[in-house]
Amino acid sequence: PFCQLDERKKKKTMKSDDVDMYKSPSSTPRTRDEFLQCAHSHIRGLGLDDALEPRQVSQGMVGQLASRRAAGLILEMIKDGQIAGRAVLIAGQPGTGKTAIAMGIAQSLGPDTPFTALAGSEIFSLEMSKTEALSQAFRKAIGVRIKEETEIIEGEVVEIQIDRPATGTGAKVGKLTLKTTEMETIYDLGTKMIESLSKERVQAGDVITIDKATGKISKLGRSFTRARDYDAMGAQTQFVQCPEGELQKRKEVVHTVSLHEIDVINSRTQGFLALFSGDTGEIKSEVREQINAKVSEWREEGKAEIIPGVLFIDEVHMLDIECFSFLNRALESDLSPVLIMATNRGITRIRGTNYQSPHGIPIDMLDRLLIIATSPYTEKETRQILKIRCEEEDVELSEEAHTVLTRIGQETSLRYAIQLISTAGLVCRKRRGTEVQVEDIKRVYSLFLDESRSSQYMKEYQDSFLFNETQSSQMDTS
Ligand code: ATP
Repeated sequence: PFCQLDERKKKKTMKSDDVDMYKSPSSTPRTRDEFLQCAHSHIRGLGLDDALEPRQVSQGMVGQLASRRAAGLILEMIKDGQIAGRAVLIAGQPGTGKTAIAMGIAQSLGPDTPFTALAGSEIFSLEMSKTEALSQAFRKAIGVRIKEETEIIEGEVVEIQIDRPATGTGAKVGKLTLKTTEMETIYDLGTKMIESLSKERVQAGDVITIDKATGKISKLGRSFTRARDYDAMGAQTQFVQCPEGELQKRKEVVHTVSLHEIDVINSRTQGFLALFSGDTGEIKSEVREQINAKVSEWREEGKAEIIPGVLFIDEVHMLDIECFSFLNRALESDLSPVLIMATNRGITRIRGTNYQSPHGIPIDMLDRLLIIATSPYTEKETRQILKIRCEEEDVELSEEAHTVLTRIGQETSLRYAIQLISTAGLVCRKRRGTEVQVEDIKRVYSLFLDESRSSQYMKEYQDSFLFNETQSSQMDTS
């Protein structure tokens, strides 16, 4: 509510029939926590030392030193707030750790830095236009740190007097006499204060605090010593001796919200509840303009600070030419997060056109990117990643099984080998074993096909499948 626009202004532009009842968009970008819960759960950071040099194995990260070094520089620029409006592309073959590096960056950013992730294909939804989905993702990745100052008055309750007026409305009015260090003050109790009083079961003799901004009353106990609790709660407390002799504390309350959250609160009648359901629908551009204006006003008054976060778009080759043109323009805006994209495509067609370009990204967009390349892993690195993954999944592997799995990882793909860990672990548990043996790996290897055996199988049995199109050209993922 503190970031709600002035009601009158809102009513001018918001009519009740502007409220759309769209279903929850499937394209809701993921937050940092959702992004981290997956195959990359072993990644705890970029594994860099203080000089931003990557350690061979650290924080779940293995090898890929050059890319991690580059990612470390980008991370530093993000932390310094220098990189807003720039874009980074992580490009490399499948399974070379592009998402893992983005994950490492996400992990290294403080919880206050907004991080939003989505896959390129997620913006194609029937419920929302592509550009709206991208706008929402952009604004989720920009934080607004709002500072509010509030005064806390502390004292001992001398008397509470609550009356029910004869009007029959059920409303209560009352007065509270509070003795502070030197004097007694009488406060008129508003509804909120009466509610807090009864919730806290405040009686005469109790020591309470009154938050002047919110009218909230909290009971501290019978002595002033508990007042130190405020510091323990992390609030910045400063004692100010007032001329009247009242004991007051100035407390700075800091909230960090995303621009998107402010948009939603101000654009729907159901307000912030839409944030929980994800059912935000499309947000009108005039709402965004008003909010941008309001936020810049707050910035000028020193009430708010902008925190550019990170927007990560995986499989960016899935975006089409319209999306790229939108991104190009959005990056120019002074309210822009850092855009990190990843792709495993080589020269390929730009969606929505007949032109080819590197990574399927238009040249004008490519021109503004900082590009980080990832390279394939050595046998030793593959072995190490598989070991870390086994520890993460709580699967014990015998030395020989580890060697066989590494071999599979080198000859098929790292991702395929990682998939085999949990399945082999299950097979091992079923035979009541405690350590995965070569036999368990063999078993799951024969049960689940890797990409090349799957293609081979298709070639052999193509005629038995429906809608088989053997003539069509092969997908180029080089
Ligand atoms: P794709 O192009 O198919 O999306 P990718 O390059 O994004 O692949 P990841 O998904 O990051 O590859 O990597 C595959 C798996 O290997 C993930 O579980 C990832 O966490 C792990 N992995 C990759 N690189 C590393 C690394 N350097 N250190 C630790 N784990 C890694």
